[in-house]
Amino acid sequence: MYVSHIECSKCSARYEPGKILQLCGQCQSPVWVRYDLNAVAKAVDREKIRGRAASLWRYRELLPVRDDANIVSLGEGMTPLVPLGRIGKSIGLPNLLLKDEGIIPTGSFKARGAAVGVSMAKELGVKTLCMPTAGNAGGAWSAYAASAGLNSVILMPADAQEINKKECAVAGAKLYFVNGILNDAGVIAGKAVRKHGWYDASTLKEPYRIEGKKTMGLEIAEQMHWRVPDVIVYPTGGGVGIIAIHKALLELRELGWIAEKMPRLVAVQSSACAPIPKAWQEGKLESEYWQNPKTTIPGLRVPKALGDFLVLRAIYDTKGCGVAVSDEEAYAAQRQLARAEGCFICPEGAAALAAAAQLAKSNWIQPHESVVLLNTAAGLKYPETVGFNAPVLEKTDEIPDCSGEDRP
Ligand SMILES: *Cc1c(COP(=O)(O)O)cnc(C)c1O
Ligand SMILES: [Zn+2]
Repeated sequence: MYVSHIECSKCSARYEPGKILQLCGQCQSPVWVRYDLNAVAKAVDREKIRGRAASLWRYRELLPVRDDANIVSLGEGMTPLVPLGRIGKSIGLPNLLLKDEGIIPTGSFKARGAAVGVSMAKELGVKTLCMPTAGNAGGAWSAYAASAGLNSVILMPADAQEINKKECAVAGAKLYFVNGILNDAGVIAGKAVRKHGWYDASTLKEPYRIEGKKTMGLEIAEQMHWRVPDVIVYPTGGGVGIIAIHKALLELRELGWIAEKMPRLVAVQSSACAPIPKAWQEGKLESEYWQNPKTTIPGLRVPKALGDFLVLRAIYDTKGCGVAVSDEEAYAAQRQLARAEGCFICPEGAAALAAAAQLAKSNWIQPHESVVLLNTAAGLKYPETVGFNAPVLEKTDEIPDCSGEDRP
């Protein structure tokens, strides 16, 4: 509708929209969608959007699908922005908010990228898509491909979570397990795509997933009445989420819907696989391959992202930073949050909480500042990350009065 062209994110080569395009033909970098924002501003305003249905398609003019008939939707978007007053106060950030992407079809924010990505694949006449995944992306793309009637071929590390394997299988994906990590699955997928002429839906190898994920940034701005927070903290793997939020904010600024000042974007990784924080600390524009990525947090186990330079650009451009937290700190934050606020979040989101606490402690974030944490998936998708300690009773047993005790 309002797409003007497709543009390389590195060399700015221009491409015509409406055709299948994977990476830039000139420099093999990710390409992204550009809009005629003047025309968008004439067609729609913030007031008009306010009255629309609570789905990510409310930002229709800023999304690439040409024909509404191609929209594949399972009801994604407009996830809640939950105030975390109690835990916020305890870490010195009273204005702490959680954008909870656990409450979305397939239980992770990957649904946003899949909704827009699969809609575009359908519009472009794709029959079979193929992708390597750490788990959640596979689950989301399998589900949306099923809804669109497309074939999906999904490759994931053999040690991926059971639930991710099952959600692909139940949605009818052709599923393969790879003895290796995500990058190894990517190599096999790449070969298959070239050989069979499939659509490569890998992270950043098509321009539309980022457009779907962009709606997280649009929603945060709208939910905060178009006054953006001071800081946004994002658990970063392939980097699509943080790149997409940056793109959203730039487009909103150009539309005049938000003021000049940008939130500082923070990329969080595990200290057992931290190529982005390392590159940021060294002032580099690209990351180095992280040898032997040992983190147990699946969404963060990306030793080198194709779009690393875009993540770093988003950080530098907004005066943000890269932060590494240990897996243990992330799991501790996950339990702490559930107890304090009732939110059972994924370990990736918990890493963002641990990072925010660290940044508050070092005064990089001031107590008066507003901070939005992204919880990228439901804790319910990660049942083995938490335990319990509950006695087993016989029918005739009684239990003591614990009403006077402190909460555990
Ligand atoms: C994929 C994923 C991430 C990483 O997201 P990117 O946008 O690729 O950086 C973080 N958390 C969860 C739960 C994920 O599934
Ligand atoms: Zn290029």
